[in-house]
Amino acid sequence: MRADFELDIGRKTFASGLLLEVIAVLRRCRPGDLVALLGDDKSVGPELETWCRFTGNSLLDATAEQGRTRWVFRCGAVPVPAEDNRPVGSRLWLYTNFDCNLHCDYCCVRSSPTAPRRELGLARVQRITREAAELGVKEIFVTGGEPFLQEDIGEILISCAAAAPTTVLTNGMLFTGRRAESLRALPRDRIVLQISLDSATPELHDLHRGPGTWARTREGIQRARALGFRVRLAATVSTDTEAEEFRQFLDEEKIAAEDRVIRRIALRGVAREGIAVSRADLVPEVTITADGVYWHPVGAEDTDLLVTRDIFPLSECFAAVRRAFDREGEHANKLARIFNCA
Ligand code: SF4
Repeated sequence: MRADFELDIGRKTFASGLLLEVIAVLRRCRPGDLVALLGDDKSVGPELETWCRFTGNSLLDATAEQGRTRWVFRCGAVPVPAEDNRPVGSRLWLYTNFDCNLHCDYCCVRSSPTAPRRELGLARVQRITREAAELGVKEIFVTGGEPFLQEDIGEILISCAAAAPTTVLTNGMLFTGRRAESLRALPRDRIVLQISLDSATPELHDLHRGPGTWARTREGIQRARALGFRVRLAATVSTDTEAEEFRQFLDEEKIAAEDRVIRRIALRGVAREGIAVSRADLVPEVTITADGVYWHPVGAEDTDLLVTRDIFPLSECFAAVRRAFDREGEHANKLARIFNCA
C-alpha cells in the first residue's frame, strides 16, 4: 500500500521514543494522509493498533518485508454518513459473481474479464433470500463483477425481489438480446437498476473504465428507462471538484435526490489512489460472496473484512457479523477505560 509519509523507525517502540516520532510526522499530515512505519520490532504492531484506535486514526495494513514489518495507518477517521446508522442485518449485499466485462482501474474487488467468476449461484441465492425474508431484511443489493453476465440473472433477481426491494448495481452495458429479455420479466415495483456513470462527459468515465464505455452506458440507461425501470445513477469520483461537476449534471438531468449516488474511490482492490478504509471505519452491512460473509461490500474479498466462511444458516451469519460489531465496540470502550486519565 502506498503512503504519503515513510518513516524508518528501526528498533524503536512506544517505550523507547516512537511516540514522539509519530507525533512529529502527524504534525505534517492532512486528514486522510497515509503514514507508513518500517520497523524491526514486531511488538510495535499491537501497541500501534491500540494507539490508533485510541487516537481516532486507523491502522490499515501490516506486511512483512525481508524480516522487517511495514505498518500503514491513516491520519484521522473517515466520517460516517448519517444514513449508515441503520441496524446491522437490515441491508443485505449479494456478490453474485466477480467476473466483469470491464476492468476499471479502481475496482474495489479486482473484477475484470479474466477474473474467476466465483458465482454465488441460483440455489444458494434462493436459500439466502428465503431465510432473509424470515429475518426481516429490508433491502437487498445485488452486485459483482457485472451481475448481467450471468445467464440466470433474471431468476436470481426475481428470487431477491420476492424477499425484499432489490437494487442491482450494473455498468448498464449489457441490456441487449437475452439480457433485455431477462429485464422484461422483472417486477418494476421491486427492482431498481443502479447504473455506474462517473462523469457528465466521456473523458473521465472512459479514462477509468475504458474507451467508449460512457456512450454505451448512456445507451443502457435509456434502454432501462424505456423498459420502465427506476434508474439510480452512481458516480465514483476522485475529488470534490469531480463530485460537484457530477452534481451539476444530475441537476440538469433533473435526477431526484434518492436516485443519486456519489462516492469516493476506496483504496481497495486494484485502486492505487483513494480513501483508505478499515473495518473500524465501516458500519457493517452483511455481504455474502461465494467465499463467505464479509463486513462490507467495499473490499468484499479482503481477508481483513472476512467475518466467516459459513453462509448458512443465515441467522447465524447475521449473528456472527453482530458479534464482530459488538467486539469492535467493546474494544473501543476498553481502550477508553485503559487510557482514562482522570
Ligand atoms: S468497478 Fe464495476 S464495472 Fe468496473 S470492473 Fe469493477 S465490477 Fe466491473
